[in-house]
Amino acid sequence: MPELPEVETVRRGLAARLPGKEVASVVVRRGDLRLPVPEAALREALPGSRLRQVERRAKYLMLRFDHGGVLIHLGMTGVLRVVDAAAPPQRHDHLDLIFTHGEALRFTDPRRFGAVLWAAGEPLEHPALAGLGPEPLEPSFNGAELSRRATGRRRGLRDLLLEGRVVAGVGNIYASESLFRARLHPVASCETLTPRQWNGLAEAIREVLGEAVAAGGTTLRDYQNAEGKPGYFQQALRVYGREGEPCPRCGTAIQRLVLAGRGAWYCPDCQPLKVPRRIARP
Ligand SMILES: [Zn+2]
Repeated sequence: MPELPEVETVRRGLAARLPGKEVASVVVRRGDLRLPVPEAALREALPGSRLRQVERRAKYLMLRFDHGGVLIHLGMTGVLRVVDAAAPPQRHDHLDLIFTHGEALRFTDPRRFGAVLWAAGEPLEHPALAGLGPEPLEPSFNGAELSRRATGRRRGLRDLLLEGRVVAGVGNIYASESLFRARLHPVASCETLTPRQWNGLAEAIREVLGEAVAAGGTTLRDYQNAEGKPGYFQQALRVYGREGEPCPRCGTAIQRLVLAGRGAWYCPDCQPLKVPRRIARP
């Protein structure tokens, strides 16, 4: 599943090619994605309009126009490519934005868990984006912000990081990787962290995501970036998917827990679970 670094990699690829280009037409071959594609609204809004910028919020790509934005979520298997508009569509090529210069932005999604939406006006105010937490790659993201948003939550850290309201766009892979780097146990309670540990966690999230973006995103399943090349960061994952392998820091076997139905990988030695004193006492 594309996570934030993959989406950011796609964004950079598209941002290098599409801003300033004018939309000629919209072709929807199959509109029954995770949410129905608003075909009429896209056809009404886009032809004759110039794409201003390609942005990202959490795992949504946003094609910004003067009067609104196209929000695209890649879901499980979504891929965006810039192709020659005359290239014959393949079976899972559900939507094309055709530009006047002869290229098309083509959305392919075999499993159709992705989404393509139109947000009139300011796209950041669209309900899909409005309640999201801070962007972890923004300079303003820090431990104090993370701690403030976690206040009152009784969840373990892994589950907390997957909540978009606490921090935007951190998926399961990077939640495990960030906790490993910060030496924090996946089920450690938010209430047990010191300000220094919150800062360490925020820094770890920023580093792990930043390195993945720099490496071009993690290759999983059908992921490809905007040039159709696979990402190549998977070999750098330190704990995710590595149950039983030696911890790269201390050599202890990596363990896997299942939390809320999803795996969490960690080193029991580097990420010890400290039971808070007031809970441990009778
Ligand atoms: Zn270790």
